[in-house]
Amino acid sequence: MNADKGPDIPDLSIPASVTEADLRHMRKCIELALRARASGDYPVGALVTRDGHVLGSGIESTHRLLDVAAHAEIEALRSACRGTGTLDLTGATIYTTVEPCYLCSFAIRQLGIARVVIGRPYPQAGGASSHHPILRDSGLTCWGPPPVIVTGVLLEECNALFDSR
Ligand SMILES: [Zn+2]
Repeated sequence: MNADKGPDIPDLSIPASVTEADLRHMRKCIELALRARASGDYPVGALVTRDGHVLGSGIESTHRLLDVAAHAEIEALRSACRGTGTLDLTGATIYTTVEPCYLCSFAIRQLGIARVVIGRPYPQAGGASSHHPILRDSGLTCWGPPPVIVTGVLLEECNALFDSR
C-alpha cells in the first residue's frame, strides 16, 4: 500500500507501544463509528483523553448535520474544549477509527494534542500517511512539536466498519 510513497514516508502500518487503555479507547471509537454508520454517515468515531480521563467524544456527522466540518475528530475536539473550558489540549491523546484528514489534522496540531492513535490509514488525504503529512511536519513550529502517531490499532475491526455499506 505504501510502495509508491517514496523514501521519506515511513511505514506507519505497524502499531508501536499500544497499551490496554489504547485498545479500550479504540473499542469505544468503534462503537461511536457504528452509531455514525447507523445514521448514514461514514463510520468514524473519535475520543480525546488525558491522564486516563475521557475529555470528549465525537461521531462523524457530516451527512446527518449537513456540516462539512462535522468530522468525528472535530466533534471530539470541540467536546473536549467545551468540557475543559480551554483551547489548549496539550498532553492529550486523540483516538480515531480512521486517520485524521487535513482539516482534523490542522485542529489536532493547533490544540497541542500529544498523541494520535489511529485505526485505519487514510493515504489519500490523511495527515500522517499522505503526501501532505500535517501531523508529522516538524517545520510547523507555531504549533509546537508534532504528536506521536500510532497507526493500525484494531485495524481489522476498523476496516470492517466499511464493509457492507
Ligand atoms: Zn477530518
